[in-house]
Amino acid sequence: MPTYELVGNPHMHTPFSDGEWYHAQIAEAAAAAGLDFVITTDHNVWVEGPEGYHGDVLVLVGEEVHDNRRQPQANHCLIYGADAEMCLHAESAQGLIDAARERNALTFLAHPLDPPLDFVHEESLSWVDWEIERYTGIEVWNYMTEFKARIPNRLLAIWYAFNPRSAIRGPFRQTLAIWDSLLAKGRRVAAIGGADAHGSTYTLGPISRTLFPYEYLFRCVNVHLLIDRPLNRDVSADKQSIYKALAQGRCWIGYDLIGSTRGFRFAARSMANSAGIGEELKRAGAVTFEVETPAAGRIRLIRAGKGVVASGRGRRLKYTSADAGAYRVEVTRAGKGWIYSNPIYVR
Ligand SMILES: [Zn+2]
Ligand SMILES: [Zn+2]
Repeated sequence: MPTYELVGNPHMHTPFSDGEWYHAQIAEAAAAAGLDFVITTDHNVWVEGPEGYHGDVLVLVGEEVHDNRRQPQANHCLIYGADAEMCLHAESAQGLIDAARERNALTFLAHPLDPPLDFVHEESLSWVDWEIERYTGIEVWNYMTEFKARIPNRLLAIWYAFNPRSAIRGPFRQTLAIWDSLLAKGRRVAAIGGADAHGSTYTLGPISRTLFPYEYLFRCVNVHLLIDRPLNRDVSADKQSIYKALAQGRCWIGYDLIGSTRGFRFAARSMANSAGIGEELKRAGAVTFEVETPAAGRIRLIRAGKGVVASGRGRRLKYTSADAGAYRVEVTRAGKGWIYSNPIYVR
């Protein structure tokens, strides 16, 4: 079956919570950055109405829910496809996840590690209640969380704000380790990455400006989805294709700023059986993995719980194994994180 690639960003805010731009303006920024879709995720409010095509960009409306009576206000959960207000269920993380599941909605733990920003007295907004089940996945790479975590003090904040490329390196190793430990237990946990764009204007000493415009962030950490039929401007069918791919983890996270990750491929086969990203492969003897990247980089094939099983430089990597497990790919370019694929689950 042919697959089609879509590029989008699944985490951002509008003036319905703490963002600056409304949906139509955000869609223009997304179009300028070459995205196919965006999902807005306002804090504790599901915004009914703006979902649909704005020009060529499909705007979907999700929600980022947390319990605002909790201190600190940790446990941010991204919800996609509920089409209803979900913050009523925020008091219990598991209750929220189950309420979303009842509506066939997806739940992703947002910025699961979010270090405190001591010099501006911001508390950690990490995920803390790990005794949960039945969620769809985790947000392995959140651009703004990473940026905040990489700036050590107020003075360097100004320098980094004008040189964000030098701050951004990739998902936190600890977040990847949490994901791997879940995968190694045999769980299916989809990974996504997102901007967490707000478009806010910051004042740092004498300087006041929008440090991270939506359009800039839409050129950075995105998700690339694989779907079975191209989008055709039928909002409900197109939305279903996008959410199905996210649910299955038929996607990779790409830091497109340092080189478009369009065209990345990761597949496995075992005799007559074959599988792509996010899919299951039933072993029939040895399994051969093939990775192809749109430009040269350092490619690592990782088996969750076992670490790197194969690596090499260039545009291709091939590896044969007899072992079951969740196999995923990381690609770096010049030391920067570039591509983080979801696993192929070998049974
Ligand atoms: Zn958040
Ligand atoms: Zn957010």
